[in-house]
This record gives sequence, C-alpha cells and structure tokens, in this order.
Amino acid sequence: MQKIVFEHVTKYFGGHRAVNDAHFTIEEGEFFTLLGPSGCGKTTLLRAIAGFYRQEEGSIYFGAQKINDVPTHERNIGMVFQNYAIFPHMTVYENVCYGLKARGIPKKEMEQRAMEALELVELTHLRDRVPSDMSGGQQQRIALARAIVIRPGLLLMDEPLSNLDAKLRIKMRSDIRRLQKELNITTIYVTHDQEEALAVSDRIAVMSEGQIQQIASPQDIYAYPQNQFVANFIGTSNFLEGECMANGEEATVHLLGGEFRLRTNKTYQGKVIFALRPERIKLQANQSDNTLAGQIESVTFLGEKASYLIRLAEGMLIDVQEHAIEPHSLRKEKDTIFVNLQLDKTTMFDQSGKEVLY
Ligand code: ATP
Repeated sequence: MQKIVFEHVTKYFGGHRAVNDAHFTIEEGEFFTLLGPSGCGKTTLLRAIAGFYRQEEGSIYFGAQKINDVPTHERNIGMVFQNYAIFPHMTVYENVCYGLKARGIPKKEMEQRAMEALELVELTHLRDRVPSDMSGGQQQRIALARAIVIRPGLLLMDEPLSNLDAKLRIKMRSDIRRLQKELNITTIYVTHDQEEALAVSDRIAVMSEGQIQQIASPQDIYAYPQNQFVANFIGTSNFLEGECMANGEEATVHLLGGEFRLRTNKTYQGKVIFALRPERIKLQANQSDNTLAGQIESVTFLGEKASYLIRLAEGMLIDVQEHAIEPHSLRKEKDTIFVNLQLDKTTMFDQSGKEVLY
C-alpha cells in the first residue's frame, strides 16, 4: 500500500506533449482512475509510473522514494492490461506462480500464495486448465491473480475490461473493486468509459490533451464539473447560453427568453453557459413559475427511463430524462409541454468554459 506523488510530470513524444505538467497525489489504498478520450495521455502517464517511459520533466514518488531512475522490475508493481498478457501454454496455476518463481519464492510459500490469489479471483477449480480454452472473463481473472500474487505496492490496470462483453464488464468491475478494497492496494486504473470510472473509483482524474482537467470523487465530478470539457465528457449536459448578474446573494439569469432567480454567494456579471443535466429538467403539463413552453420532438424508451428531445419556443433543442415511468404511458411526440429548469442545482461556465457559479 503506497502513496503516489506526481511532481510536475511532463512527457513529450517529439514536439508533442502527451502528458502536460501532471501534479497531484494518489493516497494510500485509493482506487484512482485516469479517465479521458482516446489519445488524452492516460496510458502514457500509466507507463511513466510503471517505468516503461521516462518523463522529460518532473518526478514521481512512491511514498517518500523518488522512482525516476528505478527500473520497472524494482518498482513492485502488479499490472493488468486489456489483452490479458498471460502465457497460453501454461496452466492457470503456472501462470499465477510465474512472478513468484522469478522472485525466488520458496516452493511451499509459492503454492500457498498462488492458491490464495486463485481463491480471491474465484478460479481454484480451474487451476490445471490452460487459458487458451477459457473465456475472456476467466483469462482476465488469471491476469488479475498474477498481478496480485506478488503482493505489489501498487496495482496498475490499463483498460482491463475492454475486451469483455457488457454484462461481464459490469460483473468484473465490481469484482475488481471488491478485491481492491479487500487487499487495500493503491490502484491506478485507466479507462475511456465514464460509467466504469464512476462505478469503481474513489477519485477520478479527467484528462484531455495531456492535461488533467479535474480530480474529484465520482459524485463531485458529476455534480460539480469544473469546466465545460468535464461537463461534456461526463454524463449528458444541455449547454444553454444566457446572461447572468450575481451580486453575492442572488443571481438574475436571462435564458431562453425567460428570467430566473437563484441564490448564490458569488458575484459575476456577463454571458454564461449552463450545463443542465437532463434529470434537472422537469416536465409538466401546465405553465407555472420558471417554466418554458416546448414541443416533444422525439421519444426514446430506454428501459428504466425515457429520453425526450424537446424543442423550445426559441428553436433550441434540449434533452430531458424521466425515471420510473410506466412503459405504456410515455409522453407522445408533438405534445405541447412545459419544462421546469432547475437552475439552482446547475453549474455555470463563463465564455472560456471555466466554472463561475454553482
Ligand atoms: P487510448 O485510450 O487510445 O489508449 P490514451 O489516452 O491512453 O489513448 P496515450 O496512448 O497516452 O493516450 O497517447 C497520448 C498521445 O501521445 C497521443 O497523441 C499519442 O498519439 C501519443 N503517443 C503515445 N505513445 C506514443 C509513442 N510511443 N510515440 C509517439 N507518440 C505517442
């Protein structure tokens, strides 16, 4: 169990900054996720931690030890990758023992630790099988057992569930989370899948173009995105432009032809962009305060909820979601409806995309 510190870490490929000034700390025992779109630098940062890449600027510490010049095999890291990277010709048991043998662990202890690891990933009954005739989920469990059996100070996982089907991904991610908590291993997890990140992490770092955009708990990342990139990348947002005047007590907002008043202790005057989550817009049949008229343009049934695209009087389209509906009582296309915007629970950004009001 180890704390990981990044001190102004920058990694270049040619003139391109793949990771730009990463400066943050991962706490002991934390499940920490690097999340972002393809090419944002997640894997590069993970590889710098593993020692596969050397950053050009800055330092990485494991606890108090600076590891810039420590080779990969001396970093005591367990790793799990998307493509499993297990030996197809060895049995499950031999795969798990591999790292222990390489470390010269005595036979008896090796047996005991390998069986413990197999038990943790629920694979003891398959110990003598070879991975080539096993499912993707089982192969990933072998990779996980092999990573934890060495008792690493740090567990690194790079898109470990990407090759699995949707149902298995959900099962495996909760298994990984359980295992990580049981073993209390500091874990850094890379994914481009926001739902996966929200489900497993203690904290998430959202990355874009090599830069960390925000680090926060899943709940805070969703509820208080710090900039427009995060609001757009995590969940769905309706971005609505308006004018805001906030005096430290109250804000008056002009938006979509309506005037809204919110409580706030901030001061601001100028153009703003609201990132309004679909569940922060309520639909109602009748007009009241803070409502705008619109027409339902399309209805999408999503199982436990329905999504409605609504065209407002000004021509703007917004996405609204309603939960716990009866499948046979969906609202209908072309119906006139009133939308109630819950702006007081919504983040506002200035024209540059930086958060100004919540
Ligand atoms: P993905 O989810 O697609 O794996 P990522 O967020 O992990 O993406 P990286 O693989 O870290 O992104 O890549 C970050 C940037 O660095 C990209 O622009 C990529 O093209 C570039 N890059 C990565 N590895 C190399 C390399 N070995 N040589 C040159 N450029 C590289």
